[in-house]
Amino acid sequence: MRVRLPGGRISPAALQELAELAGTNALELTSRGNVQLRGVADLDAARERLTAAGLLPSESHERVRNIVASPLSSDLGDTAARLDEGLRARAELAELPGRVLFALDDGTGDVAALAADAELRDGVMHLDGHPTDLPGTVDALLDAARAFLDLRGDEWRVRDLPDGARRIAAELGGTVTGPRVVPAPPTPPPVGWFDRPDGSVTLGMGVPLGRLDPRTAQFVAAVDHPIAITPWRTLFLHGLDEGAAETVVRVLAPKSLIFDATSPLLRVSACVGDHGCVRAQGDALAHAAELAGTIGDDERVHVVACERGCGAPSGEHRRVVVRDGADD
Ligand code: SF4
Repeated sequence: MRVRLPGGRISPAALQELAELAGTNALELTSRGNVQLRGVADLDAARERLTAAGLLPSESHERVRNIVASPLSSDLGDTAARLDEGLRARAELAELPGRVLFALDDGTGDVAALAADAELRDGVMHLDGHPTDLPGTVDALLDAARAFLDLRGDEWRVRDLPDGARRIAAELGGTVTGPRVVPAPPTPPPVGWFDRPDGSVTLGMGVPLGRLDPRTAQFVAAVDHPIAITPWRTLFLHGLDEGAAETVVRVLAPKSLIFDATSPLLRVSACVGDHGCVRAQGDALAHAAELAGTIGDDERVHVVACERGCGAPSGEHRRVVVRDGADD
């Protein structure tokens, strides 16, 4: 099951619910800041629990609720929630391809690195990384999605549609104002201790290979503070005071969560491989864990177990394909 989290935001109670549903399996954090669960035995019961926890608010629009937001910004969590509501309120937008991505960037360029189809950045709307003179509002993003639907033919993303950004902007009475700019993703991803302007502390925590142990997830939920899951497969805990933050580090660092930005584990990722995919030709997870001990200081590696290459991170990286113990 893939559980979509608009803007990566999840309440402690909802994380607790996912941890219980996962049983002994890892919660897999995805490159769009969502969570996947494997091996769910009773799908109907799981669906009921997710619905009760507010994690499945719409059957019709579930596939299109793809929204990432800069995880350090508290305001953008509310904007992501409004965008999600707006998407679900427009019946026609259920027809969007599931690959279409919305992004809300706080000016740091972090989620802009994902080259979303429609994005709020620097106060204006960007379409596939092109700035426009259209307003950076929730309504403008929804109108752009509608315009893409009208123009798309068989295309899945704005980038696939010839002259897509310009044509969508023109549909909305605007224009593209500059070249496509897609920043590099934050490398390493932000982990550690962040003092916030309001005096609170945010903790960024790396999750080895994006696989969160359900017992560790329950510890994170028990802290009972706002949580964000990032497109870099990390977690943020917001709104802590210094004492609480020190306690969280003391409790969660021994449970494999990463607070050190220099950890090589932050620069290695992998598909699930033969731990859950029928196409797999090898154990990508084990290979990635081994590689973490040997990669160079600036290297970024993604390990996959077939040529399909799922889950590749944005930005420069070396791809390793594992096949029956061999790799290339
Ligand atoms: S890359 Fe291949 S083995 Fe890995 S998850 Fe995708 S399809 Fe499965």
